[in-house]
Amino acid sequence: MSQKTTEVLDGNAVGDAIKADLADCIDTLTDADVTPGLATVLMSDDGASETYVSMKQKACEEVGINGFHYELDPEAPAEVLFDKIDELNEDPDVHGILVQMPVPDHIDKRDVLNRINPDKDVDGFHPENVGRLVAGNARFKPCTPHGVQKLLEAANVETEGKDAVVVGRSEIVGKPMANLLIQKAPGGNATTTVCHSRTDDLAEKTLDADIIIAAAGVPELVDGSMVPEGATVIDVGVNRVEADNEKGYELVGDVEFESAKEKAGIITPVPGGVGPMTITMLLYNTVKAASLQEDVEVELP
Ligand code: NDP
Repeated sequence: MSQKTTEVLDGNAVGDAIKADLADCIDTLTDADVTPGLATVLMSDDGASETYVSMKQKACEEVGINGFHYELDPEAPAEVLFDKIDELNEDPDVHGILVQMPVPDHIDKRDVLNRINPDKDVDGFHPENVGRLVAGNARFKPCTPHGVQKLLEAANVETEGKDAVVVGRSEIVGKPMANLLIQKAPGGNATTTVCHSRTDDLAEKTLDADIIIAAAGVPELVDGSMVPEGATVIDVGVNRVEADNEKGYELVGDVEFESAKEKAGIITPVPGGVGPMTITMLLYNTVKAASLQEDVEVELP
């Protein structure tokens, strides 16, 4: 009897291949005297946010993007952050601006997103960029869902005509993910269901799916009993759960990996699946931003 084999997608490998292509784009820009620049702004003492920002800066350095990093006092008034954003909007060396979320409670996140020049909004969260994505004319696709799309493409997972279930409807993952999947474009054309915390029977939806994308922020929400035989399972979730180790915690996804792997045809691990793709697509958007602002054509991967 033949053993069932499940393909475990390697987000690091797919991300590295895209980074190699981005390095060629950066060479083209450098030949035209342009060095792409990404500014990150951190206004938080949160350890996880600090880690995310430093990973982003490190990734920039690796591919030859100029990184500019600013840390603002989390107690400072909103104007301090807005002034910094205004300054970066005007700075010709900065092609992309990323304000690490969450910002402190006394600042309205929407005011921050609205303040960033949409041409430099490499997160793709400015209302103009959200509108363009929905209209099928995206300038910057949000990094995590774009990374998922690239992972599916790398694994030759056809989305056209397939049933996709997205678990989660956040502005940063669920909604843009669903928007990409329904576009009349490559990597789209999927019949897409969006589930959320008020969904009546989640398993009923996922059991009908060819592709499940879990982005709920609930540890191991999707287990093997919810996965149809041969489905593609993409786990966006990154959750810290208590563990009996040195750190006192471990990272788990929104999918119960072992039981889901028994059923899935293709699955992503946590860590090492979607995570590395998110950072790669931030580099992609920064290179795209530089190319558009400086009017230098590059062949994006
Ligand atoms: P949010 O908390 O903003 O959104 C979670 C969504 O999941 C909401 O729409 C919520 O529904 C829905 N949800 C919650 N519980 C359930 C449930 N029991 N059944 C169905 N749906 C549910 O999270 P994010 O979208 O920001 O992030 C999701 C996960 O992805 C997190 O683990 C996060 O850490 C991770 N993440 C990973 C990234 C990466 O690079 N790998 C990048 C970004 C996020 P409702 O709207 O009704 O509240």
